Amino acid sequence: MATAREVLDGDALIVVTGAGGFIGGALTRYFHEQGFRRVRAVDRKPLPDWYQRVAGVESLCLDLSRQENCERVCEGAAEVYNLAADMGGMGFIEHFRIECLQSILINTYMLEAAYRAGVDRYFFSSSACVYNTELQKDPKVRALKEADAYPAMPERGYGWEKLLSELFCQEYWAERRLKTFVARFHNVYGPYGTWDGGREKAPAAVCRKVVEAKDRGTGQIEIWGDGTQTRSFMYIDDCLTGIDRIVHTDELIATPINLGSNQLVSINQLVDIVEDIAGVELRRNYKLDAPRGVAGRNSDNTMIRRVLGWEPGIPLREGLAHTYAWIERQYADRKAGKRTVRD
Ligand code: NAD
Repeated sequence: MATAREVLDGDALIVVTGAGGFIGGALTRYFHEQGFRRVRAVDRKPLPDWYQRVAGVESLCLDLSRQENCERVCEGAAEVYNLAADMGGMGFIEHFRIECLQSILINTYMLEAAYRAGVDRYFFSSSACVYNTELQKDPKVRALKEADAYPAMPERGYGWEKLLSELFCQEYWAERRLKTFVARFHNVYGPYGTWDGGREKAPAAVCRKVVEAKDRGTGQIEIWGDGTQTRSFMYIDDCLTGIDRIVHTDELIATPINLGSNQLVSINQLVDIVEDIAGVELRRNYKLDAPRGVAGRNSDNTMIRRVLGWEPGIPLREGLAHTYAWIERQYADRKAGKRTVRD
């Protein structure tokens, strides 16, 4: 097991797509802080809307569902990290399946461009949504291991796109010897991500709702579903460590692997923790017809422990404390009419 710093020259060009978003933005900063002098960050969002803009990084606003843009961004790259996708939390992926499926264009063109540019390593961010939904009908779910993606019955739209993109990655290695790496993320959370607007995921949504309830003095919170659905949540710093280690482990070439926490909690427990951090107790209104996704989902970490001798371990309470503090600040800044992007 190695990391980028151990195998790459400091002048090697690293490309990160989806860099205006949550994980891509954090990964861009991670490589920059690791001392890489040439990082190219790409997103279709206009630059002022990026969650993080890292000084000294080449930042490009380009639509990567267009082949010529993918060719341009892969030029001269040693490694490509493709995190661009049209995505969001359950509310988004249950209502915008076409947009989710259209992300297939991004990975299709990025892989071909990376191959033609002679890129050494290519990373694709897949998702736990590739897993067979039949195995996720019980909140006391058995943790999902990598083999559970087949026989395939993933989440409609988003999950199918991820599964097909995984296959593309595997065939680019099998037929063309492009070293591809695929991590199946399980719910990533942390600061500098989407926290309102309809694309936010459960941890950010719960933090924002608690901040709002405190600010408005409503004393109550709306919860999607009955609160018994279970998930595991991985803090962003674990996600970055995991991506770096996965991409520099040759045993994992073309081998999708779980990257997630295995600390299973119900949505009610998630709310308990956030209330505790915020020092409030709210009345819970359950919105039973809201999108709620599968009943239960957890990450089986046997494979990552075996191959990397490591697994995500940052406790949920610790990560949520950072996330809550950041969202509280965003909320206050917005209320005061300030911009909320980090430079
Ligand atoms: P995000 O929405 O914050 O970031 C994705 C970025 O991709 C956005 O900034 C968006 O503008 C950009 N993008 C979309 N279409 C594009 C296009 N055509 N060209 C260029 N850029 C485009 O999401 P995130 O949470 O940072 O997720 C990053 C990756 O990880 C995605 O592939 C996502 O599917 C995957 N993932 C995330 C989670 C999670 O919990 N956050 C879980 C599983 C998988």
